[in-house]
Amino acid sequence: MQEAALAAAGLEDWRYLKLPLPPELFAETVLALPAAGFRGVNVTIPHKEAALAVAGTASEAAREIGAANTLTFERDGAIHADNTDAPGLITALGESWAPAGRTALVLGAGGAARAVVWALLRAGAADVAIWNRTPERARALADQLGARAVERPREAEILVNCTSVGLGDEADPFKALPLQADSLDAGSCVVDMVYREGGTRLLEAARTRGADVIDGLEILVAQGAASFERWTGRTAPRRAMREAVGMIAST
Ligand code: NAP
Repeated sequence: MQEAALAAAGLEDWRYLKLPLPPELFAETVLALPAAGFRGVNVTIPHKEAALAVAGTASEAAREIGAANTLTFERDGAIHADNTDAPGLITALGESWAPAGRTALVLGAGGAARAVVWALLRAGAADVAIWNRTPERARALADQLGARAVERPREAEILVNCTSVGLGDEADPFKALPLQADSLDAGSCVVDMVYREGGTRLLEAARTRGADVIDGLEILVAQGAASFERWTGRTAPRRAMREAVGMIAST
């Protein structure tokens, strides 16, 4: 997706490379990257907390979420940390599902849930409930960010699946998660952070019942576009990015 964006923006001498790293080499490797010509990195599990720690400055989102998925190497050598998952969710919800004044239910209490709960609260959601398979993690997250942990969730206007259920073929979201298919109806918006080819069963069921749905790919593109803009200072070519992840047919 980022390679497609760089090509579409005419940044032909830029490359987006995969760099697998063990945790013990994370900091020293990142600190060496600016001198090697890198302008920034995306960071994924398990390095998101270490990414925040290695940065000299951080956005409010990264600081308050406690994790960064984007590092930018500034021209003066400083390292800046961002969390673009949080604005990515708000961008994907758009005006139609702007969280202000709405109720939300977040399933999961891992890294994605942290960013989502923060983003929903920050955008003015009236109530953010968190359910997690391991309830104490939901309670800890709710206490840290000022949300509400629940063991038997009620319906909400915005539902966000931040568990990894749905990634594989095996798990039935309606068995693994406290959800009733008939509660996902018109008047609700269902967001699945999980993305997979052909879409997830959760989104398929929600769409069938008349709910608005947001595919995890939308958030992937939105967070990727925010990172691209941070590194390059240019408007992200979102159409090329959407094509690259298969959301729209290539022209
Ligand atoms: P994580 O930190 O490992 O958290 C995983 C969460 O899933 C935990 O809450 C865990 O519950 C729950 N879980 C796992 N298996 C479960 C099961 N069988 N039944 C019920 N709950 C289960 O992972 P993460 O970083 O938050 O990512 C979660 C998902 O979001 C992944 O699929 C990831 O690819 C996706 N994601 C997408 C985007 C995007 O741009 N669309 C961005 C970030 C993440 P316990 O606490 O009980 O273990």
